[in-house]
Amino acid sequence: VQASNLTQPFWTATREGRLVRQVCDACGKSFFTPQIACPDCRSQAWQWQQSSGRGEVYSKSTVNRSPRPKIAAPYVIAIVQLEEGWDLLTNIVNCGAGDVHIGMRVQVVFQREWEGNVVPEFEPEGVPA
Ligand SMILES: [Zn+2]
Repeated sequence: VQASNLTQPFWTATREGRLVRQVCDACGKSFFTPQIACPDCRSQAWQWQQSSGRGEVYSKSTVNRSPRPKIAAPYVIAIVQLEEGWDLLTNIVNCGAGDVHIGMRVQVVFQREWEGNVVPEFEPEGVPA
């Protein structure tokens, strides 16, 4: 599957170990997933900018039964709210599923490849790289 042109800069960045998001030139808001126009003010003037990769767990769900044999369960799917005010659906890794809680500080980590892309995941803040 070919990634769309719109999404490609995101995946190029993750391969380089950077997390980026679109930032609107008109209203300054960050947004994700990639879109042609700012979802807030509809401006089509925006840039990709690097995120700190730090944020907190906004909501989470524990998957106890894996849909695929390759994926070990239980694992945690979460919405992480980044410092710049945008959010991302992701996995919380490098800790026990039971240790993940709402409001937990997390940082991005790039350790897994999925269908040809390096996917951003999050781990508890302060875990040595
Ligand atoms: Zn805007």
